[in-house]
Amino acid sequence: MDMQQAEWDILVIGAGPAGLMAAIGAAACGRRVLVLDRMPKPGMKLLATGGGRCNITNTLPPDELMARFGRQGRFMEPALRGLDNAGLLAFLAKIGVRAHCADGFHWFPVSESAAAVQEALWRRCEKLGAGFRFNCRAERILLSDGAAAGVETPQGVFTAARVILATGGRSYAGLGSDGSGFGLASHLGHTVKPPLPALAPLVVREEWVPECAGTTFAEAEVWIDLPKRRAHRMRGAVLFTHRGVSGPAVLDLSGDVAGLLETMPEVPLRVRWQLAESAADWTRRLDSWRREHGGRLVRNLLDEKLPASFAMALATACGAAETKAANLTAEQAARLVEHLTELPLHATATEGFGKAMVTRGGVSLKEIRPETLESRIVKGLHLAGEVVDLDGPCGGYNLQWAFSSGLLAGRNAAAESTKT
Ligand SMILES: Cc1cc2nc3c(=O)[nH]c(=O)nc-3n(C[C@H](O)[C@H](O)[C@H](O)COP(=O)(O)OP(=O)(O)OC[C@H]3O[C@@H](n4cnc5c(N)ncnc54)[C@H](O)[C@@H]3O)c2cc1C
Repeated sequence: MDMQQAEWDILVIGAGPAGLMAAIGAAACGRRVLVLDRMPKPGMKLLATGGGRCNITNTLPPDELMARFGRQGRFMEPALRGLDNAGLLAFLAKIGVRAHCADGFHWFPVSESAAAVQEALWRRCEKLGAGFRFNCRAERILLSDGAAAGVETPQGVFTAARVILATGGRSYAGLGSDGSGFGLASHLGHTVKPPLPALAPLVVREEWVPECAGTTFAEAEVWIDLPKRRAHRMRGAVLFTHRGVSGPAVLDLSGDVAGLLETMPEVPLRVRWQLAESAADWTRRLDSWRREHGGRLVRNLLDEKLPASFAMALATACGAAETKAANLTAEQAARLVEHLTELPLHATATEGFGKAMVTRGGVSLKEIRPETLESRIVKGLHLAGEVVDLDGPCGGYNLQWAFSSGLLAGRNAAAESTKT
């Protein structure tokens, strides 16, 4: 591309939390910023976060937050140094969004409204003079002398000294991020780790599970039942669905399950759906039922301890649907104890990108400088948010990353745009 006088200093592709924060960071340094988004308004996914309440961040200090993103988490260090949870909360308060932390871990706006966050960020961008083009899909990032210099869209070509790619992942495409950012980056020579759904409900093989749809256990433990994976257990609520299992503990495991499903047809899982009682407790209880309630059906006895549909389903799964306590065989008893303490399930799929809250995979971190979030492949291109190969668990982790990385990319793009 012939590089004439650029219309803008910085183009931001994507008006999600990362892009809006990047625009704020750059515009606050006095740069002329234009934000492009393919949707009719900014932050459509942000509006859906936390069930419309927006879990902005959590109470973890940077080291612990990064650790929850896995081995690659250290990449986040410079971004979190520039904007940690306290910094984010102070910034949001400054732009009119006060937050509270009612459960001692998750921060939400006091208004319990994601729209309040989206509107405040949008207002701030406009106040700082950033421009917006909506319904404007970036189709290609243009180069001049090997450096990012513009963006081609159906509304025309926009030119700038720097481009920030903040297009998000591939999940919930109806809210804007359809994975097209990966194509924009790979077209320029970036390596994109194949995207997988993460924070997604799981589909399981067990036919009895749909019978229990709606049953929730508030404090459960879930793990992948494979050597080397068993030690990594997720705690939190587990919910049975019409096709499998969901709830925070399952969602947090789903990215790993999606990865394993690339190489195996199903992934064995275990669920400790109640943490209080051990196998020995249940063995003793079954023995006492045999002695004291021998004439009663096992499923009716279980019914007194568990949600009705779950009791029936477990008894059926263990071949004891019509069995009286006195007639319970050793094999049936052993299966029951297993299902009552370490419930075996087999995940055959995730519910896919349509129901995944984040995308695992993305632009390789090796090709991005963590201190500036500038590409090592294309000068003048910065990347922020979910488009890069980082994903965290449920609980404000992913928004914190989007905000922190957006600000770092925006500030550095602004600093560098004076030098070009
Ligand atoms: C239902 C749901 C609930 C969630 N709840 C939480 C929560 O409570 N807390 C939390 O921490 N995380 C939550 N997340 C995850 C969080 O929303 C994302 O990680 C975060 O939005 C990523 O920010 P981003 O700016 O990188 O990308 P996005 O928010 O996806 O924004 C990317 C933007 O880029 C635009 N775009 C994409 N491609 C193009 C293109 N080619 N041209 C122009 N524009 C383009 C999109 O329209 C979009 O506006 C949730 C996700 C979902 C789906």
